[in-house]
Amino acid sequence: PDFKPLPKTNQSVGIDLGITDFAILSDGRKVDNQRFTTKMEQKLKREQRKLSRRYEQAKKDNRDVRECKNYQKQRMKVARLHERVAFQREDFLNKRSTELIRHYDPICIENLNAKGMLKNHKLAKAIRDVSWSMFIEKLMYKAKWYGRNIVKIDRFYPSSQLCYVCGHRDGKKSLEIREWTCPACHTPLDRDVNASRNILAEGLRLFETTQP
Ligand SMILES: [Zn+2]
Repeated sequence: PDFKPLPKTNQSVGIDLGITDFAILSDGRKVDNQRFTTKMEQKLKREQRKLSRRYEQAKKDNRDVRECKNYQKQRMKVARLHERVAFQREDFLNKRSTELIRHYDPICIENLNAKGMLKNHKLAKAIRDVSWSMFIEKLMYKAKWYGRNIVKIDRFYPSSQLCYVCGHRDGKKSLEIREWTCPACHTPLDRDVNASRNILAEGLRLFETTQP
C-alpha cells in the first residue's frame, strides 16, 4: 500500500463496539453489522449440521467416511463456505477500517479485553470477538500507514456508566438497557452513542497529554 500520510481532517471520533450494530461512533453514525456475513454464517451452520448427520449415518452403517461420497461431497461444501465467510469478513473489516482512517483522527477506541461482556462461549460471540480484534488490528496498522493516531482507552474506564453531558456516574447497566435518562441532568441517553462520546472525551484527554 501507499504509505503517504492522509491530509488532516481535524475530525476526532470515539468508537464503541456494539452488538446490534458493529460499531457506534460518537457523531451518532453507526457501522452496520455484517448482515451478509451473518447470513452466510447461518448457512454454514446448517451445512455443518448436515455434515455431522452424514458422519453419524456412515458410522451407523459401519462405513468408512473416507469412502462415503455423500459425506465427502458435504465436507467440501463446508470447506468452501468457510472460505467464503472468512473472505467476506476480511473484506468488511478492511473497508470499514479504511473508511474510518480516512475520515477521522485521532480515533479513540476501547481496549478490547475491557469489554467483559457476556461470558458465554457461543459461536456468534466468538466470531464477534475475533472480528473486533481483527478490526482494531487493522485500524492500528492503517493508522501507521496513513499517519493517523489511535488512542486506546483504559480497560476499566466506565464508558457506559457515565453521562457524557454532566459526567454523573450512574452505575452498571445490564445489556438490555439500550436507553436511559441521566438522573442528574435529565438528558435522555442512547446507551451506545453515550458510551462512544465518553470514549471520545477520555481519548482526547489522553491524546492531549501525549502532545508536545
Ligand atoms: Zn447527566
